[in-house]
Amino acid sequence: MDQAVVTAELPKTPWGFVVKQPPACSLTDVMSEQLAKQLDEENEAFASLNNPVADLLLSDEAPETTSDLMLAKMLQMQFDHEFDEQLRREEKKFNGDSKVSISFENYRMVHPYEDSDSSEDEVDWQDTRDDPYRAGRKRDTPPTEPQQAHKTVRMSQFHVRSLFVCSIPSEKPQTTPRRGFTGKGKNITTKHDAVTCGRKNTARMDNFAPEVHVGDGLGMDLKLSNQVFNALKQHCHSEQRRSARLHEKKEHSTAEQAVDPRTRLLMYKMVNAGVLENINGCISTGKESVVFHANGGSLEEQPVPQEVVLKVYKTTLNEFKNRDRYIKDDYRFIDRFSKLNPRKIIRLWAEKEMHNLSRMKKAEIPCPEVVLLKKHILVMSFIGKDHVPAPKLKDVVLSSEDMKNAFYQVLHVMQQLYQECNLVHADLSEYNMLWHQGKVWLIDVGQSVEPTHPHALEFLFRDCRNVATFFQKRGVSEAMSVYELFNSVSGLNVPVGEEEAEFISEIVALEKRNEDHVQRRGKKTFPVSSDDGSPPLQPDCDD
Ligand code: ADP
Ligand code: MG
Repeated sequence: MDQAVVTAELPKTPWGFVVKQPPACSLTDVMSEQLAKQLDEENEAFASLNNPVADLLLSDEAPETTSDLMLAKMLQMQFDHEFDEQLRREEKKFNGDSKVSISFENYRMVHPYEDSDSSEDEVDWQDTRDDPYRAGRKRDTPPTEPQQAHKTVRMSQFHVRSLFVCSIPSEKPQTTPRRGFTGKGKNITTKHDAVTCGRKNTARMDNFAPEVHVGDGLGMDLKLSNQVFNALKQHCHSEQRRSARLHEKKEHSTAEQAVDPRTRLLMYKMVNAGVLENINGCISTGKESVVFHANGGSLEEQPVPQEVVLKVYKTTLNEFKNRDRYIKDDYRFIDRFSKLNPRKIIRLWAEKEMHNLSRMKKAEIPCPEVVLLKKHILVMSFIGKDHVPAPKLKDVVLSSEDMKNAFYQVLHVMQQLYQECNLVHADLSEYNMLWHQGKVWLIDVGQSVEPTHPHALEFLFRDCRNVATFFQKRGVSEAMSVYELFNSVSGLNVPVGEEEAEFISEIVALEKRNEDHVQRRGKKTFPVSSDDGSPPLQPDCDD
């Protein structure tokens, strides 16, 4: 029966009865519905995208994170804001307190108009970016809708700031429009208005260097007169300059006991490179140099003496100023001297000592052997043993026999120096001669000059006086007089009269004659015979 009813309602086919399905929805419909829903959701999400950073900061709810696009935009926005903040800091650092400042505004990611409301009252963005009044200013004028989010962020920054200042200023200094005044009739206020200027000056204190403590005046309605503000600014500048000077001095000078960081670095490099094994300590600090003891390593597979000294020429220039005359008239250095800055001249001193020592070594004069020259550091062999430097001739106690022996050694060394090395020590005394293994060793030859130097003979005379006086005081009867010593060393026959002044004037006249020869014939035209038939002064010899 039932079967018959069903049969009557359903159309019959050869395969049986077909069950009628409800009409199916088209694929296009399904897709468009899904799309509409998705767009709807996205729209909701985008409604709060004006400042996602602010929203993120302010809302308690978890942010919508299902849309990748939105996440990307949020991150980009956050990045842009951070970039701008950084740019602002860089700009501030770059401009400092300079009266003329460079604006980085064009490089900002977020346009100032999007980021700030400064356009509303013709306020220059640059002038007011650090204005403490800026954030508080709009409290009475509600911000427009799109600015709401930014405003909130800035307000929160301001509140953090106001923890450090006393109170939120009640009034912002009025910025004067371009026409130079505000108001009408009697109520005209110009940009020179004391109150406006005073407030502006207070706000500007914020631009002082961070190390200048401006107190909590920024938070109050302070009005600084131009005079006070200028005095503060002046003080701030001079403080900065002073601290920079102090810093510079500390960094660049070789202090009494220590060395400056650059020199230290050079010394460490020598240890790192294996030239030195270690640097042990300071032997002497003089006016012009600091001498360190060190253990030698190896240099280009050549062994460095076991014990060496590092003579570090001081990089403070004061002392060297007095000694210019030793180097600027030395023909070996004259061309370079004029072209160099004072710091490089100090290196020249080290180089000069190296050349002089090399010459002396060739003539087999007992002296330190040069190991290495690095800028203003000269490494040479150590005269002494087991970290104990050889005593200076002035400090050593010798028998009369040894003292006599020492005198003859010094005489011989002075002659060798003049005649074989073509050098005058120019600072020879018992302070620059060491007594080691029964021999006199010469050191400190940085200032030594060639006999062609315009003052070489005067320097030689001074050396002779030091030597003669020392040995005479030590009771060496064989010690010559200063005049005899001078003639014996130089081979000149300067007549010995009654007065020292006469002798010196003879020397000066000789120097003058040599100088004239040099001028006439050029610096390399020696030998020049002196007119009185004394031996020629030797030309420059190669190191
Ligand atoms: P300054 O120009 O400061 O007088 P010196 O070259 O005279 O420099 O060195 C200062 C001191 O350092 C010397 O008096 C000496 O005691 C020590 N000294 C210098 N060079 C050596 C060396 N090669 N070996 C041992 N001691 C040295
Ligand atoms: Mg010395």
